[in-house]
Amino acid sequence: MERKRVLITGAAGFLGSHLCDRFIKEDYHVIAMDNLITGDLQNIEHLFALENFEFSHHDVSKFVYVPGKLDYILHFASPASPIDYLKIPIQTLKVGSLGTHNLLGLAKNKKARMIIASTSEVYGDPSVNPQPEEYWGNVNPVGPRGVYDEAKRFQEAMTMAYHTFHGLETRIVRIFNTYGPRMRLNDGRVLPAFIGQALRGEDLTVFGDGSQTRSFCYVDDLVEGIYRLLLSDYAQPVNIGNPDEITIGQFAEEIIKLTGTTQKVIYKDLPVDDPKQRRPDITKARALLNWEPKINRAEGLKITYEYFKSLPAEALINKEHKDFTTYNR
Ligand code: UDP
Repeated sequence: MERKRVLITGAAGFLGSHLCDRFIKEDYHVIAMDNLITGDLQNIEHLFALENFEFSHHDVSKFVYVPGKLDYILHFASPASPIDYLKIPIQTLKVGSLGTHNLLGLAKNKKARMIIASTSEVYGDPSVNPQPEEYWGNVNPVGPRGVYDEAKRFQEAMTMAYHTFHGLETRIVRIFNTYGPRMRLNDGRVLPAFIGQALRGEDLTVFGDGSQTRSFCYVDDLVEGIYRLLLSDYAQPVNIGNPDEITIGQFAEEIIKLTGTTQKVIYKDLPVDDPKQRRPDITKARALLNWEPKINRAEGLKITYEYFKSLPAEALINKEHKDFTTYNR
């Protein structure tokens, strides 16, 4: 039987690369697309030799051309850490809006089903906890996170419009904090930040008083949820995340214990509009997809720590991860 063909954007990134692995495992033909601004080819290098894998170096904010048929499109291209979208705010807005529009057009043309990577950031600094899909959010459009949050909100609106107006088959996954191997050590996110600091023998930087909460999902669980959602017939947004909520202060203590570092916690200013609480209500994912996370934090953190420890020493250098200034805005 002919293989199904799937286009994955942001394929060289953290989530994109794990999705490539999953679809290769399911024997799809995978077309991996990335402009490599924040992605890294090392994440998908092991797939290049396969006959059912191809890579396209392209920025989806510009017109996207893919020859041949397409069954599915997974739009996972976007900077996704607060540091990244502070550095490249305009590309962040463009990939969520123009990029999504281009890919929806492609999906329509190919009669492909498209899933977009939305985010718990659409809930902003939420006033309800946990957050169900029905919650409309509390987002500051002109704050530093606005470029990401509003691009993702627009992305959802655009996707829903293609669904209702053009009858396109679409899926929307709202992704909560996720971690695992292939996160960039210097992307500014809390987990690589803490583990990087522990490995370099630096103090762990907790922002604010550490009472803000997050709920961390291991990447394999997330990928399973996304896979099930894509194959389901449900077009409304679905939260995928791990509801096990923890304060950032407690999280720092867990990392100290895990790594055995003798360093301590130091406190820094809380970034502007940093959400105070975040926890997914996964009632829908449970009911519709028969999905829930299987890997607990202790287990997931151990695997992730082993991954970071296995990186070459130069990866640990706390350098600016990339010079973005040369990229077209
Ligand atoms: N954080 C922290 N120290 C760091 C990096 C992040 O205390 O070195 C905090 C950050 O302020 C936020 C939480 O950890 O409250 C999660 O941050 P992250 O950037 O990973 O993702 P977010 O959920 O805020 O998008």
